[in-house]
Amino acid sequence: MDSTPTEPFGLLVIGSGPAGVHAAAAYVEAGGPGRVGLVSADVDEPYQRPPLSKAVLTGEEPAEVTPILEDESAWAKVDVRLGTHVEALDLERKLVRTEDGEELGYDRLVLATGSDPVPLPGADDSAQVFTLRSLEHGRRLVDAVADARSVVVVGSGFIGCEAAASLAGRGVQTTLVTPEPAPQAARLGEWAGARIAEWLAAAGVQLRTGAKVESVEPSGEVRLDDGSVIEADLVIAAVGVTQSRPFLEESGLLIEDGHLVVDDGLRTSDSHVWAAGDVARGHHSVAGRALTVEHWGDAMTMGELAGGNAATHGEDGTGDPDKWSDPPGFWSEIGEHTLKYSAWGDGYDDARVVEHGEGAFTVWYADAAGELVGVLAHERDEDYERGGDLLARRASLAEALDADSA
Ligand SMILES: Cc1cc2nc3c(=O)[nH]c(=O)nc-3n(C[C@H](O)[C@H](O)[C@H](O)COP(=O)(O)OP(=O)(O)OC[C@H]3O[C@@H](n4cnc5c(N)ncnc54)[C@H](O)[C@@H]3O)c2cc1C
Repeated sequence: MDSTPTEPFGLLVIGSGPAGVHAAAAYVEAGGPGRVGLVSADVDEPYQRPPLSKAVLTGEEPAEVTPILEDESAWAKVDVRLGTHVEALDLERKLVRTEDGEELGYDRLVLATGSDPVPLPGADDSAQVFTLRSLEHGRRLVDAVADARSVVVVGSGFIGCEAAASLAGRGVQTTLVTPEPAPQAARLGEWAGARIAEWLAAAGVQLRTGAKVESVEPSGEVRLDDGSVIEADLVIAAVGVTQSRPFLEESGLLIEDGHLVVDDGLRTSDSHVWAAGDVARGHHSVAGRALTVEHWGDAMTMGELAGGNAATHGEDGTGDPDKWSDPPGFWSEIGEHTLKYSAWGDGYDDARVVEHGEGAFTVWYADAAGELVGVLAHERDEDYERGGDLLARRASLAEALDADSA
């Protein structure tokens, strides 16, 4: 990669997750001007993260790169620098500085720096506490799990639930500790939380709900706030993520809650800079409000949009951007069970459960005005698809339920 600031990249992308990779490829495919460069702290070629808590952790798949792009012809034209942290962004001079002091100039920049796991409070520095975000984390965890008889997973978000089910499935004695009354209760409601709890228990996971970890000792003792102690060979902390990065905070770009604020064409407060994926707080053109989403497919969609819009961006800072309009959604695999969820993701006031027999169900979520804001489906793909269509036209809960009972 030629790094002189006097020869700026037409497009420079930071981050090699789905948002960054799709942004770079879309820019090339749209014929955007100039060379395209991508800098990433990740040491591996771009890979898919979702298998890390699923087939990789069960041992069904190796902890290896599974490519993000189906067609890599555009990617082949991108200058890629891996294992390199960006430490500063100078909007005025239109350049980024890497950890080794190199300055890379750009005309257009896409920021796709994603999320990082937050550390587990109270854990001793020398305790065996793992997080799971990168393939490198996955490799370390898989190695450690090979010798482990017991694991404590802390946190009942999707990654915590998936990891716990995967580990129990391979015969490791697994305890999931969460302050929630049931897994995912805050996000999906207590009814769905109770179903997930049943699935986890059936997979062999011991659940400790309503409990917080107070400390993890180097010996492997996990102390809970009710005074009990669990002995574990290792601990996985899945207690949340942050998008906050010092170089972004210091850049002068508009930030809210650690997220870069972007318009519905994914442009930041600087006309030469776009943001996509987990790090973006984007104005959603259908929802009519700003949303943050932490989903694989949405990061791909947002990356494509950001790269395409950067390519058609006019010299005067204008252009006719494509708008972020797809309803967000993702799938989660908890052991044998698949959940499909499509939602604006910023809460709900009413949840209606429809059971279809043999364990299949749909939960429809609505706001206080009766507008549909989300759908959760298990063994009910038609409702997941229909829910996405209903969200896209901002339909009512009544319409969703009418068709469901028809
Ligand atoms: C174990 C696991 C399982 C998941 N399963 C699912 C699932 O089943 N379904 C789903 O929808 N979502 C899932 N997700 C979430 C999904 O992976 C994320 O939403 C998605 O990866 C976000 O993409 P992104 O491109 O915005 O950021 P990321 O994929 O986080 O990529 C960010 C990139 O930026 C780089 N970076 C960060 N800071 C710097 C810096 N200062 N300098 C240079 N580079 C930097 C990072 O190294 C990385 O390459 C899962 C996540 C994990 C960790």
